[in-house]
This record gives sequence, C-alpha cells and structure tokens, in this order.
Amino acid sequence: MTEQLRTDGSLRHLLTLETLTRSHIERLLERAQTFVRPLGQRPPRSRALEGATVANLFTEPSTRTRVSFELAAKRLGATVVQLEVQLSSRAKGESMLDTVYTLQALHVDALVIRDAEVGVPGLVAAHVAPHVSVLSGGEAHVSHPTQGLLDALTVYQRKQRFAGLAVAIVGDIRHSRVARSAFHAFSKLGVTDLRIAAPTALMPERAEFAGCTRHTQLEEALGGADVVMMLRIQRERMNEADLPQGERYFAAWGLTRERLALARGDAIVMHPQPMNRGIEIASDVADGPQSVIRDQVRNGVAVRMAVLAEVLAAGPA
Ligand code: ASP
Repeated sequence: MTEQLRTDGSLRHLLTLETLTRSHIERLLERAQTFVRPLGQRPPRSRALEGATVANLFTEPSTRTRVSFELAAKRLGATVVQLEVQLSSRAKGESMLDTVYTLQALHVDALVIRDAEVGVPGLVAAHVAPHVSVLSGGEAHVSHPTQGLLDALTVYQRKQRFAGLAVAIVGDIRHSRVARSAFHAFSKLGVTDLRIAAPTALMPERAEFAGCTRHTQLEEALGGADVVMMLRIQRERMNEADLPQGERYFAAWGLTRERLALARGDAIVMHPQPMNRGIEIASDVADGPQSVIRDQVRNGVAVRMAVLAEVLAAGPA
C-alpha cells in the first residue's frame, strides 16, 4: 500500500483512513472545525494556498464531493481545474497515468481522484512526482476518506464525544465505501458499540468490519442507537443481487419515524447522499428534526479545506 505520510510524519496523500493514526484524524477534524460557519454566515476565505493548483479527476459521477473539493480549494485561494474523464476500462491504468503526467507538467500540486476501480488513487500516488499529493474522492467500494472524516465531524459536533456512543450503519454495507471509511474513522476515534445492519445479500465478508456487531434485522440494530447512518443501495456495484426492490426494501429496511423511535430520543440520522426517499429513508425522517444530513454536506467543505491545507501548506513554495 502506498505510504500516505512524508518522512517527517506529515500527511502527503489521503487514500484511506485505515492506516492513519487517531491523532492524525483528530488533527484533521480540529482543523476542519475552524472552517465551519453557521448557514447564513459567509464561509471563511484565505490565501493560504495561493499559487497552488488542484485538479479534480473524476471518472465516476459525483455532486457533493466534486463541488466541495472545488469550493474548498477556492476558499483557500488555490486554482482548480475539473476533468471529467471517460476512459475505456482496459487501457484505464495507463491512460490515467498519462493524464496525470500531463497535469503534473501543467504544475498541478494536488489531484483529487474518484474511480470505480479498486487501487486507482494508490496507483497514481505511487507514480506522481514527490511534490504532488493525491487525495481520494472515492475509490470503488473500498474507501472514501473525506466522507469518513466529515461523518466523524458531524457526530462530534452533535455528541461532543465518541466513547460510549452506539452507532448503527444500515443498508448496502457490502458495496459501500462510505461504510468502510466511517467504520475506520469511528473505530479509531473510540466508538466501541458499532453495529452494521443489512439484508444478508448486502453484508460484507466476515473478515471485514472487525469488532462490529452484525444485524439482519433493522429494529435490532436501532435499539438505543445514538447515531443512525443510512446508505444507498449501490446498484452500479452489483451484478444482480437477491434483493427486495423499492417498496419491499422500504418495508423491511426503510428508516421510518416509528423505527427511529427505537433509537435514543436524541439520536441523529445521517445519509451520505444521494438519497432514495421512500426506499432506504422516509422523507419525513430525512427532513426531520433528528436529521443532520445537511450538516454533513456543510462539513464536507470544511473537511476538504482541512485536508488540502494539511497536504499542500507543507509543500514547496
Ligand atoms: N456519495 C457516496 C459515495 O460516493 C454515497 C453514494 O453514492 O451512495 O459513495
């Protein structure tokens, strides 16, 4: 696996939370919190990254991640270029690296990469020049580190702690990079009661999510939970699963008000989006008083500012 840290211990790439220490994660969250402002207030701006160039290289669809990386870079004074790349899957590795070398020749300092294939951000990180950083904007089903950070920040803002919380992650765990990065973030930060809940077909392999309890009944996972994280079914990552569709999925797995009442009264409801209202979550829950889904979006920009500041501020002038 590509090393994410420089020899002085500072963060150079962000590909996964799995190999970061708790203190690295805490430092990023503390830094991100300094960029958070209530809605209605202008977000902070600085020239900390003036002269730096960030390229967004996304080969899978993205709304929030791409826009928030762009806003994050611009709010710190960097220049941003957007590339939407359509590559034939056979020649992908090679043409991806050609694109990367081109961007490097254009003086790009950080590459944000989203790709449906496992290993692409790491492959690029292993080939870039020493002054270039690679940030994952979502790697296949494997990792989505800035999402894991923004989820952790959202929980901390509401709960002021991680120890002692019961966190239920619900839905298509098997295909979810969001679930994996949340698992790494929460377990490193000290959440001990981590529950994953999914229909059997959407449960991950036994070797994954070590230490989490596994539930094939939603109600069981919700009991006394402080945090309920709902996930979208990743149809694009399945061939055909033996899955209840639409209304039938909602009947067994949809988060309704009645089911949410099984969690603690002050439980928060999260969703990384895009949401399928009426499939994994009822609209009145998604828009209800316990939902922090819009906080997650706002925190996404703050977290990406923190990550960009961390990897680029230490770079060459
Ligand atoms: N936006 C998230 C992701 O990129 C979640 C989703 O697509 O369901 O993984």
